[in-house]
Amino acid sequence: MAEAKTVHSPLLTYVSMLSLLTLCPPFVILLWYTMVHADGSISQTCDYLKQHGLQGFINIWPRPTAIAWKIIACYAAFEAVLQLFLPGKRVEGPISPAGNRPVYKANGLQSYAVTLITYLSLWWFGVFNPTIVYDHLGEIFSALIFGSFIFCVFLYIKGHLAPSSTDSGSSGNIIIDFYWGMELYPRIGKNFDIKVFTNCRFGMMSWAVLAVTYCIKQYEENGRVADSMLVNTTLMLVYVTKFFWWEAGYWSTMDIAHDRAGFYICWGCLVWVPSVYTSPGMYLVNHPVNLGTQLALYILVAGILCIYINYDCDRQRQEFRRTNGKCFVWGKAPSKITASYTTTSGETKSSLLLTSGWWGLSRHFHYVPEILAAFFWTVPALFNHCLPYFYVVFLTILLFDRAKRDDDRCRSKYGKYWKSYCEKVPYRIIPGIY
Ligand code: NDP
Repeated sequence: MAEAKTVHSPLLTYVSMLSLLTLCPPFVILLWYTMVHADGSISQTCDYLKQHGLQGFINIWPRPTAIAWKIIACYAAFEAVLQLFLPGKRVEGPISPAGNRPVYKANGLQSYAVTLITYLSLWWFGVFNPTIVYDHLGEIFSALIFGSFIFCVFLYIKGHLAPSSTDSGSSGNIIIDFYWGMELYPRIGKNFDIKVFTNCRFGMMSWAVLAVTYCIKQYEENGRVADSMLVNTTLMLVYVTKFFWWEAGYWSTMDIAHDRAGFYICWGCLVWVPSVYTSPGMYLVNHPVNLGTQLALYILVAGILCIYINYDCDRQRQEFRRTNGKCFVWGKAPSKITASYTTTSGETKSSLLLTSGWWGLSRHFHYVPEILAAFFWTVPALFNHCLPYFYVVFLTILLFDRAKRDDDRCRSKYGKYWKSYCEKVPYRIIPGIY
């Protein structure tokens, strides 16, 4: 079995795990409470907590109810069935550190279309009203918090007892194994990939489903949808559509190809994505800001442009790798570095590093339009409250940390070749600045 490499030092892992375990669940509940019941105002929530103390906090934490479990179970089962049975092209993932090549079925876009059409049809034909989801959101998040923790315990036990491939192993430390995960590609049976389910079909899909839910809730409450909500929902849907359009590409990114299936990534995708990533829309339900057509259009166009640039960065890198550098980048032959490295099984392999196009501006330029897109789907909320901007701030911190993690990993993978890439492309994220 391949020995699991720790991503951060044990101390940092303990600190981040403890904070994730102790701070993130209450934060999710407080975020929901503030958006839905406290007018989006942090000071209103703080005043309530000051007055009522810990007991007040316990009172606002919704218990997971039967209806919440039912909604989650139906949604998860529906997505699992689509993942397993919808047709899709066979796609090979990148070679793993242990030298394996995982195979996937690329049916994400079909699943996405079927999910949204089914959800909207259920509403339209009066079978299921999405406002029920909004009205039980706190209970759903509460159930997700506990359910996902139990799911991560299952992943830990599976990693020990029945790993799906040689890309698995223990760091020798139970906390690190639980937190960072043991298996890179855990599967149930041969075909059901757990990380595709948690990250894409549950997490990312829930983002689109909840964005639509918030929009419908506002419509049912007010008889109309404000232009701010329309801009927010459209941009989020464009972003998630882009994600599923490019889902096979996602399978060669860090989340899937490097991060193991543990508490960090799986709990994050199962709980944090549906709650925090969708929070600007959650805020707008009760705050139907009217922007006016012109401003709404400016924000919409700026957001779509950022999502397009982010997509084009990812596409450029993947096209370059897929064609082995035999493609055009911004109309010219790409400039590149051929970097060799050794797999954990001792084989020497090589990868191409693109040093022109978006990837010549900075080593992680794609994070700039990612952060700006998040800003543009939040700014329809205007500036009465700062909480809707939490996701933008969180994303900025996450991506700056991720850029560092990725640089460290690539430096240890490619050694002197990565050094020459850094000499050629000196900035990490923001050209000329950082
Ligand atoms: P990527 O996986 O796309 O890119 C990093 C990897 O690409 C490196 O590990 C390396 O892998 C390879 N690589 C690095 N430099 C080069 C180069 N010059 N040429 C060719 N290959 C290179 O990064 P992410 O997974 O971070 O991002 C993927 C997408 O997901 C982005 O659009 C990002 O914005 C988005 N994202 C969104 C998040 C969110 O929460 N909203 C969070 C994280 C990402 P190798 O070992 O193969 O060489």
